[in-house]
Amino acid sequence: MVLALYPQARPRLQVTEEPASGISPPMGPSFEGLLERILEVLRPFELRTFVIGFERAEGYDRCRHEREFRALKVALGEEIARRIPGVDADFDRPDLRIHVARDLSVSAQPAPLFLGGRYRKHSREIPATRWIHHACRGRGCPTCSYTGNLCGPSIQELLSEPVLWLSGGERTLFHALGREDTDARMLGRGRPFVLEVHRPLRRTLPLERVQELFQESAGDLAEVLGLRLTTREARSAVKSAAAEKTYRAWIEAAGPLPADAAERARALAGRTVDQASPERVEHRRGRGRQRLRRIVESSWLGEVEGKLVWEARVEAGTYVKELVSGDGGRTRPSLAEVLGVPCRCAALDVLEVHWDPPWEGVGSVDIPARATHYPHLPWPSS
Ligand SMILES: [Zn+2]
Repeated sequence: MVLALYPQARPRLQVTEEPASGISPPMGPSFEGLLERILEVLRPFELRTFVIGFERAEGYDRCRHEREFRALKVALGEEIARRIPGVDADFDRPDLRIHVARDLSVSAQPAPLFLGGRYRKHSREIPATRWIHHACRGRGCPTCSYTGNLCGPSIQELLSEPVLWLSGGERTLFHALGREDTDARMLGRGRPFVLEVHRPLRRTLPLERVQELFQESAGDLAEVLGLRLTTREARSAVKSAAAEKTYRAWIEAAGPLPADAAERARALAGRTVDQASPERVEHRRGRGRQRLRRIVESSWLGEVEGKLVWEARVEAGTYVKELVSGDGGRTRPSLAEVLGVPCRCAALDVLEVHWDPPWEGVGSVDIPARATHYPHLPWPSS
């Protein structure tokens, strides 16, 4: 069968300019054949809304293209909506775009799914996102035990596995609101993230099942909480948010502390810190960049479980390990400076990311409170 819809053979296609509702769409071998192709391509996908686009013919401007194909699009759209119950055309934000190429081959481009949630990371061994072993380009080699990763499994991978399985998607992108160092824990209510799922076959996911499956493989390493379907805008919001964070730093001091250590530490609240890029990130960020960051709150908890603990709420982008040590004078003031004793941050926990995710309507997501505070945290063994 010859499908000829494009200009050189347009007379074969009979379409009325504005098919009135209730009137059968124009039928004919071309139309029926194309419709069958589209329905075949749509078969694996769950969708509620779609839009049809035709590849533009050479020499056609957008207006002419639109004019010539509008009636056909409307007719196809109505017929698809009639044959697949619950499905309708939507030009703004379709679940799926149907593309008809000039050779009349049909392809489908499902919109990505966006899942919003929070994660807690209890392990100091796993990263939030995949850390690819660059020597083997993530393909796996003896050095990385054929995992393709330098350390892992990451939260992104642990979550992607059940999501891809249940959605039929092809791959994921993980957008978190900032990130902690691999050896830091993410506690409190967890860190907000958006998981972007490309080419999903299904759009309604059993999110509780996703969380269960995540938990089965993550064990005690991490938790995922409050998973919700969200929007592309949430992805932008999470990527551009600059949120204050509260940290708990476990400190090792090189000498005896002054008697008024608590007051000295508390006096850091409200101070602005001048930080040069730390040595450890210079290879990534470049040398000599200065940044000013504000310390919002600062409290000295003294000795907890035989270790010294300092908690601080700081502006987005503060290097906290360097805020403790002073980084050889590259961060000023620092905790070590105000205490008058060389200090280093032996371990770090993020206690709170101060940001309200747009997908969590007020009161609609219940983040279990049990882990909001860790008053008796054991000293991390790792
Ligand atoms: Zn490798």
